[in-house]
Amino acid sequence: MNFNVAVIPGDGIGPEIVSEAKKVLDTVGKKFGHEFTYTNVLMGGVSIDAHGVPLTDEALETAKNSDAVLLGAVGGRVGVDKWYELPPNLRPEAGLLAIRKGLGLFANLRPAYLYKELKSACPLKEEVADAGFDMIIVRELTGGLYFGERKTEVVDGVRTAIDTLKYDENEIRRIAVKAFEIAMKRNKKVISVDKANVLDSSRLWSQVVSEVAKDFPEVTVENMLVDNCAMQLVKNPAQFDVVLTENMFGDILSDEASMITGSIGMLSSASLGAGKLGLYEPSHGAAPDIAGQNKANPIATVLSAAMMLRYSFDLDKEADAVEAAVRKVLEDGIRTVDIMSEGKTLVTCTGMGDAICERI
Ligand code: NAD
Repeated sequence: MNFNVAVIPGDGIGPEIVSEAKKVLDTVGKKFGHEFTYTNVLMGGVSIDAHGVPLTDEALETAKNSDAVLLGAVGGRVGVDKWYELPPNLRPEAGLLAIRKGLGLFANLRPAYLYKELKSACPLKEEVADAGFDMIIVRELTGGLYFGERKTEVVDGVRTAIDTLKYDENEIRRIAVKAFEIAMKRNKKVISVDKANVLDSSRLWSQVVSEVAKDFPEVTVENMLVDNCAMQLVKNPAQFDVVLTENMFGDILSDEASMITGSIGMLSSASLGAGKLGLYEPSHGAAPDIAGQNKANPIATVLSAAMMLRYSFDLDKEADAVEAAVRKVLEDGIRTVDIMSEGKTLVTCTGMGDAICERI
């Protein structure tokens, strides 16, 4: 099959890690008989340099017309790079908000997986790390508290601030459907996280999730209060498969879940909209401190490309092959500098890309 991928290398280490992910996709293409056609798109600081804005309408149009978007990272150093002299809406990171909005992405997927070879980086108790974990947080991205009406005013002489947490049933249904579809590709278990003992929006959330669950009889569903979930993530993370939650809870829980894996260069992510089009990017940033030195870890971006294969192209076998190659690389003791430990083999960014390709 042929797939058109819009590629956004971006700034900092972006171009280095994206070119390794493309190399991996091409290896998958050769092995499984697919062709990936790439169209380069400028976003972030490089787009400001070329066009004066972090994302042009043409660039967004190219992304919209593709089958999926692969992004490295955008951004530079505040106080050093001249992009930060611009107003906030023209800085590199504004491109991220613009593309997410322009593509109508409402579901953010952040897997958290503990590789047994990197267990020592996990900050949890040894017996918890020994049990391992493999979960994906599905976070609603365009509603809730971050997008509700807000104001700050003086009421009876007292400064008062109000934020509104609002969800309608359609917003909840579409993200719940995504979470159940994802669960069908995994271990068929959804834990829906809310605060239904206090919030009306959470009570509606859990009602709609139970309605959606009826269409997915193979998937087991459980509700968990967000405060309990925060505890369970550090106490017994092995219990989670798909965690479905609203915007703010997801913001916090996905960072907590990332933290317990211990290695930022390994964390992939995806943002999905109504159809199959998705934006795939590592969870880390542009790492300007190591840019241009061929020492970034490309695994988060390679695993994001694997998510693209699975969720935008429905190529599950191919995605499995990439994930297995990453596991094999780690088993074989190959490491970039960020995950290096004694007795292992240190490789560059390109060296890691090559090592993954050899194992596909
Ligand atoms: P960062 O994730 O870029 O870097 C944090 C630390 O982790 C740095 O020491 C960096 O060297 C290291 N690191 C990150 N990715 C790595 C990798 N793949 N391999 C090895 N080491 C890696 O976060 P930051 O320093 O807070 O941000 C730097 C810039 O990136 C800022 O301009 C920020 O706005 C931007 N940023 C962009 C995105 C994005 O594009 N989605 C996300 C976060 C930050």
